[in-house]
Amino acid sequence: MTDSTNSNGAPNPFGGFSIAIVDPGEEAATATGGPVTIQSAEGRVDAKVVIIGSGPAGLTAAIYAARANLEPVVLAGSAPGGQLMLTSDVENYPGFVEPIQGPDLMAAMRGQAERVGARLIDVDIDRVDFSGRPFRIWARGTEYRAQAVIIATGASALWLGLDSETRLRGRGVSACATCDGFFFRDREIAVVGGGDTAFEEATYLTRFATKVHLLHRRDAFRASKIMIDRARAHPKIEIHPNTAVEEVIGDAKVVAIRLTDTTTGAERTMPIDGLFIAIGYKPNTDAFRDWLEVDAAGYLLVHDETGSKVDGVFIAGDVHDHRYRQAVTAAADGCKAAIDAERWLEAQGITEAATSTAW
Ligand code: NAP
Repeated sequence: MTDSTNSNGAPNPFGGFSIAIVDPGEEAATATGGPVTIQSAEGRVDAKVVIIGSGPAGLTAAIYAARANLEPVVLAGSAPGGQLMLTSDVENYPGFVEPIQGPDLMAAMRGQAERVGARLIDVDIDRVDFSGRPFRIWARGTEYRAQAVIIATGASALWLGLDSETRLRGRGVSACATCDGFFFRDREIAVVGGGDTAFEEATYLTRFATKVHLLHRRDAFRASKIMIDRARAHPKIEIHPNTAVEEVIGDAKVVAIRLTDTTTGAERTMPIDGLFIAIGYKPNTDAFRDWLEVDAAGYLLVHDETGSKVDGVFIAGDVHDHRYRQAVTAAADGCKAAIDAERWLEAQGITEAATSTAW
């Protein structure tokens, strides 16, 4: 338990608790790292900063916030680690001479965040209330109250929405060429989509596959001209415009796909061993839409680097960034959001100025 006043004599807004975790009547949430957990009779968690999300943005924010004595609570999600957990070799994150596996990189970030004092709880949030401070967040039956919030919930790959696609995910259906391309050495595969992601993945997959079919529902592409030209010139890539996937065929693994021509309605079956869905990403913003602004594609809008339209709520990483979407840019964003949150808390008189130099 901490003192109920700050050392400067101001009332401590955290009700005398450093962190209080209670999960009334429900399976206990997994909590790791950080200061000793304290049970609160009120059945809630009070924190100076709650970080939502545990990809590179969330964990970097956690590292910076923890080192500034903000004792951050990270609501890490039930599948923590973000998109890098679905990636194999990471060659463009600085600091590693040899490629590092995505899950290894995220485990190292998590360990680092915990070592410096962040408290990670592997729960998904249900809803938030940003109408006033403390901000309120509910996750698996527990209410979290925070003086500042950093949203780093990232984005998720989109799927076609076919039952057969869901059933065969991990058995030949994938949304990550870098993760799974290796498994299709000397196989024939297809990629769905007409944007840069689809063209990039198709080109990448030619390293492994004997042939890559690129399937797009229209005859105009969103991808950049250079990517399209490169794919058109590639001997292993065949582009099929006006082509929609109706069904993925296979029991234990993918053996074919049923296609329709979107202009004539004609059906055909294409034998393939793997299907990569590359139709874009959905930012994970559903819980925030009542409180924060989103753009036409659903990404959160930032003000002044990491701010939102709600003072004290900050935004970091792919949940707002559809331009760069890199681990290193997300991490940089997390750093900026933590610094902005700390300075904001200090300006509100919630934290002491002395903590702000601990970066
Ligand atoms: P995107 O540009 O939104 O393209 C998504 C594609 O998937 C579109 O062609 C779309 O078709 C198709 N699609 C969407 N839903 C579909 C469905 N249900 N069934 C079939 N097709 C569907 O997404 P992205 O390719 O992921 O790119 C996102 C952003 O990241 C872009 O700004 C892109 O430039 C950028 N990016 C850049 C690079 C790079 O520069 N190296 C690499 C990857 C991504 P329609 O066209 O018919 O809507």
